Amino acid sequence: MYKKTFPSKLPAAGTTIFTVMSALAIEHSAVNLGQGFPDFSMNRELAELAARAITDGYNQYAPMAGWMPLRESIAEKVEQLYGLKPDPGSEITVTPGGTCAIFCALTAILQPGDEVIVFEPAYDSYIPNILVNGAVPIKIPLEIPSFKIDWHKVEQALTEKTKAIIINSPHNPTGSVLSASDLEELSRIVTKSGIYIISDEVYEHLIYDGLEHQSILRYPELFKRSFVCFSFGKVYSCTGWKLGYCVAPVELSSEFRKIYQFNAFSAFTPTQVAIASFLKNASVYLSLAGEMQDNRDYFIKLMKSTRFELLQSSGSYFICGTYERITDESDREFAMRLTKEYGVVTIPVSAFYEDGTDNSILRFCFCKKKETLELAVNRIVGC
Ligand code: PMP
Ligand code: GLN
Repeated sequence: MYKKTFPSKLPAAGTTIFTVMSALAIEHSAVNLGQGFPDFSMNRELAELAARAITDGYNQYAPMAGWMPLRESIAEKVEQLYGLKPDPGSEITVTPGGTCAIFCALTAILQPGDEVIVFEPAYDSYIPNILVNGAVPIKIPLEIPSFKIDWHKVEQALTEKTKAIIINSPHNPTGSVLSASDLEELSRIVTKSGIYIISDEVYEHLIYDGLEHQSILRYPELFKRSFVCFSFGKVYSCTGWKLGYCVAPVELSSEFRKIYQFNAFSAFTPTQVAIASFLKNASVYLSLAGEMQDNRDYFIKLMKSTRFELLQSSGSYFICGTYERITDESDREFAMRLTKEYGVVTIPVSAFYEDGTDNSILRFCFCKKKETLELAVNRIVGC
């Protein structure tokens, strides 16, 4: 039998929790409130534009940095929303999804031994992306239950080796949102230390209760040192399209592209062609927050009849819940039992901590049809 003789780049990594839980959902015919993807149809007009791009023959490689009309539309959108107009030629790079953009940004800047500040719970790709670059994640826990950043802890974590900080607002898995005063604190810290920012803003349009998304792109001084990553999968409820982009100043984009061109090289052409024109209609993405806030509120209302206690979520697809009144099982054990005995899949939040810290919290995904949410809650109401 063939024996592997090379050391693993990621010895501690298994299969991602999203893959594991979605497979379990199928195996147990469970309602999937785990992995973050909508179970309703995406915008029909956009789907038709993509289909038409294929039949119209847009089926060869797009330019490495992205279909130019799409980059132009992105530049206009960014300017309208955040006041800063990135240069489509040199400051916007289209990628196959936000995950790829984050990986390329980290890979562009990291040298072995560099330290990167990352807040936990953290989206699952950040720490592995740091580790494969030989760099060191410096993990700072978010405050529970608000999941806010304690900036004093960030200041204390800075060393000469600190190269970057990763922020994510609205936040996966908790739905917490950074405020203008958080950005002020960030600004103070990065100016003092000269570190780079990776800003994961894939949920920019999924922000509720009238809050304003505090994009890095609103702050020219912060943008100078930032890679800002986005995903059309979230903007248009088509996560399987895997199309995203990174906005970064010209020198940073140039290093980003050096990595990207030898990684994916370019992203799927037909969806770029479709979104290039569709993105001009701002009302579609601007209505998303209202629609998803309805879902969040409906889910919160339904969950009142259970013994779960939901925490605050002001953005993203997700809301977290504690279950002290139900059981003292670990979050993984309880998530497994909910799947097998009750037919509902959730995500144990310990999966978002490198060391598996378990605060007895489950993540529920509410970007689902109302009947899906009803079915799930009906199943767990007695537990
Ligand atoms: N960051 C966060 C916080 C996410 O939840 C996701 C969704 N998977 C991504 C990045 C990446 O999105 P994409 O599917 O476009 O790679
Ligand atoms: N972002 C999605 C989530 O948090 C999952 C993406 C993935 O499966 N990699 O559920």
